[in-house]
Parts: sequence; C-alpha cells; structure tokens
Amino acid sequence: MLKVAKFGGSSVAGADQFKKVKAIIQEDPARRIVIVSAAGKRSSSDHKLTDLLYLCHAHLTYGVPGDNILQLIQDRFAEIRSDLGLQYDVESDFAALRSRLSRDTTADELVSRGEYFTARLMAEYLDYDFVDAADCVFFGFDGQLDLEKTYAAIKEAAAKGRGIVIPGFYGSLPSGKIRVMSRGGSDISGALAAAAVDADVYENWTDVSGILMADPRIVKDPAPIEYITYSELRELAFMGASVLHEDSVQPVKDKGIPLNIRNTNRPQDAGTMIVEKISKKSANQDRFITGIAGRRNFTILTLRKRNMNLNVTLSQVLKILERSHITAEHITLGLDSFALVVSSAVLGDRLYEIIGEVQNVCAPDDIQVQDQVALVAVVGRKMTYRPGTSGKIFRALGDAGINIRTINQAADEISITVGVDNNDFEAAIRVLYEGFAG
Ligand code: ASP
Repeated sequence: MLKVAKFGGSSVAGADQFKKVKAIIQEDPARRIVIVSAAGKRSSSDHKLTDLLYLCHAHLTYGVPGDNILQLIQDRFAEIRSDLGLQYDVESDFAALRSRLSRDTTADELVSRGEYFTARLMAEYLDYDFVDAADCVFFGFDGQLDLEKTYAAIKEAAAKGRGIVIPGFYGSLPSGKIRVMSRGGSDISGALAAAAVDADVYENWTDVSGILMADPRIVKDPAPIEYITYSELRELAFMGASVLHEDSVQPVKDKGIPLNIRNTNRPQDAGTMIVEKISKKSANQDRFITGIAGRRNFTILTLRKRNMNLNVTLSQVLKILERSHITAEHITLGLDSFALVVSSAVLGDRLYEIIGEVQNVCAPDDIQVQDQVALVAVVGRKMTYRPGTSGKIFRALGDAGINIRTINQAADEISITVGVDNNDFEAAIRVLYEGFAG
C-alpha cells in the first residue's frame, strides 16, 4: 500500500499544525510521499506566506524596500524550526536568497520559496528525504507540464526506499528556471506524485472534513459527501463548489486513483472519497442527490426569429460570443427561438456591442435580455434514468413560490440546473437541500 499525502497551507501554518501532520504520517506507514503547500494563515488575521512573497516581489520590481516583509517570512520559518527543535539553518538560506535578489528575480523564483522552505522543515521533522520540485516536476518549452519526464523523476525519487517530502506548486522549465503553477497548484503536484507512483490513494489534507452537500453559509450544517464520482465533482465545482484545483483531478482520474479529501484537524473523519465509479455497496445509497451548488449573476439572452434555421443562427451567435471570449453556460432551444445563459460579469459592458452584432448578422425578430439570474444545480448520479426526478425538483421549488426561469438537464442526467431570480438563490438551495438531501 502506498499513499501520497498532500497538506495544504492551513495544515502546515505553524508548529502545532506540523505536529498534527506528523501524527497523521506516523499513524500509517503507507503515507510515504508527502507534498506540502507554503505555510498558510494561523488565524483569520494572519497572512499566507505565498501572498507575502508576491508582495515582496512587487516591492522588488518597483525598487521599494521590501526587506521587512522578507524578514517576516524568515521569522515564520525560524519560529516553526525553534518550536519543533529542528536544526535547519533558515538564516543562512535566507541570507543566500537575499544576496541573489535583484530586479531580475522572477516572481516565480521568489514565490516558490514558500513551498521550498516549508518542505525543508517538514522533511527534517518527519525524518523523510527532501526532494526539490525543481528536480522532479518539469515543464516543457510550451510551458505545459511534461508528464513523462515528471513521472519518471518522481518515481525514481520515491524508489529510494525512504519517505520523501516534495514542495508543491512549482517545477522547472527546460532552461532550469523555476515556474509556479496557478494559485492552489500544490493540489496538482500531489496528483502528479500520486499518478507517478501509481498510489493506492491520493490524500488531500485540508481544513474541512470533505466536500459538503451544500454551501454551509446557506444551509445550516450540511451533511458531508462520503462518495462522489469525478463527473459529479466536475458539475459541482463548475457551479462554484470549490474544493480542489480543477487541474488536479485529471492525473489521478486517468490512472483510476481515488482521491480522498481529509481534515488535518479531524483525522478521525473519513472525509470525501472521489472515485471514477461507485460500487453498489458504497455509502449514501438512500440519498437521492450528491450535492447542490450554484452561482448568482447570470444574464439570459433570448433570440426569436420566425422560420429560423436553428443550426445557422445559433452557430452565428456562438461565433460572435466566442470572438469576445464569452462562453454560454447553458443553451435552451425552441423551434423559432433559443436562449443563452451567460455570466453577467464576463459579459460586462460588451452586452450592447454583442446585441448590435447579433442584430447585424442574424437579423432576429426580437432579442430579450434578462439579468439578475442565479443558476442552481442539483447533482447526483442516482438521478440518472430515474423517472420523476425533474418533476420532484420543480414541484419543491414551485411549492416554495420560487419561479424557474431556465431549465437544463445534463445529457447524462447527472445534473439538473435551474435558473432562478438572484433574490431566490439561497431559498432555492435551502428548499432543494431540505427536500432531497436530508
Ligand atoms: N501556496 C500556493 C498558493 O497559495 C499554492 C498552494 O497552496 O497550493 O496558491
């Protein structure tokens, strides 16, 4: 059994969190590959080291002294080192870093040091080997991850027998320069490591006990999701349920490795298991839906044209949107009309330009614009091929006096999305949760 355990920023924010990580690692000898983010916030008023490092780089770029920020970062690491009785010479490494800094230092180079120093300390604390991500996570000339080279290097590092700690979030370019991923990228590093060694499970340790069935700011104490498929997760994440970096799913999904979201502060909780397929025996059998998520602020553009050739007109409108880099989130079709649901923020003040262009190109009889629309998605693999599902959802909303403005069922039937008035957004989520999740 081999497990890859990735710990997020809050799990490594200070000495107390490091202790929890060590207890988790020691509890299961299969946890031999550890990926860490940079130390995060210890309290809500604290700062993530990655944010401070970006700030430090901005000072460097504009030639404004930023040494006090760098000192703050150094102190955080030195404090962890002293509190845990470690030897790592933080001061010398920071002195070397300072001497290298110049206006030419890239943001990536500097910001990656958050993960680097955190991993150095963690490796010593766990008595695991430190493996620099610059030596085992590689990007190609196109800036994309070189999976083959990365997998080979991680596999080789892991084969040495001892446990290893790899800093997340960065790797190196063919030139040898450091490149960071997008924010939250340590999730990807963990997934790469799990895929490289064909891990039995990729554990993603964070500060929540898995994915909840609904947003806890809207629904009181929503139940955690025990099992979810990758497809369901994608639907929920698309609708705003943010748990993992979206690019972290593919490497483990491709290899059929389950992804387990766990809580460093409550290791006794099983968390959420994300898998490709769920066996009949798995938990949650009685639950009809897996989760509910949604987003506010969409605009519906409805176009009508008598005797229109749907294919031609729809593709003309989609091309106009595409040229402006606007994606339609949903499309509903009629015989002589169709409606596109578009994010209002993305549409911005280009709305009138786009309507003008649609009028010129398609000559419709009428275009209507409705804004202030929220989308709410009910996601569940068990809704598939089950008669009456949509009826129940619409009835529940209708009984609560919530008007549905658009309806969209995914072709594979694992989600039904309704558009409601922005003002009904929270009520819709609560009604659906109470009706189907309890
Ligand atoms: N430290 C980086 C960030 O804050 C990467 C990560 O935590 O995954 O985005």
